[in-house]
Amino acid sequence: MMPLDKNIASRLRAIVGERGIVDGRASLKVYECDGYTLEKAAPQLVVLPETAEQTARVVRLLAEAGIPYVPRGAGTGVSGGCLPVEAPVMIGTSRMKRIRGIDLANCVAEVEAGVVNLEVTRAVEGEGYYYAPDPSSQSACTIGGNVAENSGGPHTLKYGVTVNHLLALELVLPDGRMVWLDRGGDAPGYDLVGLVTGSEGTLGLVTAARVRLLRKPESVTTLLAVFSSVADASRAVSAIIAAGIVPAALEMMDDLVIAAVEAAYHFGFPTDAGAVLLIELDGLTAGLDELSERVSAACVANGAKEVRRAADDAERALLWKSRKRAFGAMGRLTPSYCTQDGVVPRSRLPEIVAIVSEIASRYRLRIANLMHAGDGNIHPLILYDESKPGEVERVIEAGNEILSACLQLGGSITGEHGIGVEKLGLMGVAFSPETMAAMADVRDAFNPRGLCNPQKVVPTDRGCIEVVRPRPRGGG
Ligand SMILES: Cc1cc2nc3c(=O)[nH]c(=O)nc-3n(C[C@H](O)[C@H](O)[C@H](O)COP(=O)(O)OP(=O)(O)OC[C@H]3O[C@@H](n4cnc5c(N)ncnc54)[C@H](O)[C@@H]3O)c2cc1C
Repeated sequence: MMPLDKNIASRLRAIVGERGIVDGRASLKVYECDGYTLEKAAPQLVVLPETAEQTARVVRLLAEAGIPYVPRGAGTGVSGGCLPVEAPVMIGTSRMKRIRGIDLANCVAEVEAGVVNLEVTRAVEGEGYYYAPDPSSQSACTIGGNVAENSGGPHTLKYGVTVNHLLALELVLPDGRMVWLDRGGDAPGYDLVGLVTGSEGTLGLVTAARVRLLRKPESVTTLLAVFSSVADASRAVSAIIAAGIVPAALEMMDDLVIAAVEAAYHFGFPTDAGAVLLIELDGLTAGLDELSERVSAACVANGAKEVRRAADDAERALLWKSRKRAFGAMGRLTPSYCTQDGVVPRSRLPEIVAIVSEIASRYRLRIANLMHAGDGNIHPLILYDESKPGEVERVIEAGNEILSACLQLGGSITGEHGIGVEKLGLMGVAFSPETMAAMADVRDAFNPRGLCNPQKVVPTDRGCIEVVRPRPRGGG
């Protein structure tokens, strides 16, 4: 790739000021990957605009000069979405973190793209409200990144993903024009908010979002059901849903994950269990006890050895801390791990779990299972040690086999982590040539020269020549 023209660099500096520029090899190292560390590529320059207007000026300048760029939020993505492939410039949103307004009467907040997810809830929780999408990375990831990935979280089962909580987006198009896409009320016309959400930054750069706020539920009950095996826990998941119950969250951790989180957080998880389900029920106080008994009964009927109930808010908080920080706790078991993200129809969880176990033994790898089980969204964590010859290659092949199995079972190659660079090669397996062509047409309508986040989501025939494969470490 050609070095960035010095004149362009100084014009960018003039727009965002000295504090809005990151250059120099050492400083740029921070930006060479996200949570997917198997592939790396540093940008030549990072630009950090402070406002939407500055962002539009930056994008306009890059468009005029024909220079590709990649948007970046907090870099917690786990598929390499913000990796600068054939893009010398990165536009980061970390200085755009104002909450522009809160309108509790209409349950709406307008927030800039760089606002951290959890900060939205923090701003309104004193008034009894919250922002529902809660990725486990919510203390770091940004609203812009959440929109780009259409992120979910443990409470997706009942409350949906990011797109279900968006009313409008402020977007800088790849030619530098700024538009508001509004789907408030019964807005007629195309649902452009829906289209942009989940497009991984390939249709433009989101500078702000108007998001829906929810009232906190009157009551919450959190249960921990303990099973001898993942298969029993999977059957309990199907039984709960088949009984017509929609928990707020229905999460599964297997024995390896339990061992890691217990060592890290000392909640008192049974370390001899094969799997646990973390089940949250919320809503009106009246009826919640009865619902919780029905859920417990479904667990016991499917082999639960014990069903515990969080005694108070502190215990509930510790349970969720253990679950949400489970990824980080894996470091207790392994020098490296790779997080996979696939989906199967919920009823086929026992089958995919058996397949993952078979793949683990065939590839001589340990694979831990963490799942948004209620959504059929699996996160097999493939543990490895890069110092062992051939192990990285086995991890990649095992991961691909797991995702192919998800497709064969009627599922998808990603539940929430997106395509990024990691799964680009699988898009042609997951979709027909006609569907891929339709996707390319949509991208080209917004981003005809491919300047905004090139080489993502829809494969082109250009190679990822800037991507290196250095010492892998793990991710997620
Ligand atoms: C420990 C851990 C737990 C996680 N748990 C979950 C989970 O429960 N659920 C879940 O869905 N994900 C989860 N993730 C993945 C990740 O946190 C989400 O994908 C998150 O939304 C990424 O936000 P970010 O700000 O870090 O975006 P980045 O990683 O910086 O970028 C992600 C993608 O969005 C694009 N992008 C970023 N900002 C913008 C913008 N303003 N406009 C246009 N495009 C933009 C980038 O180009 C890139 O393609 C987890 C990750 C980690 C490390």
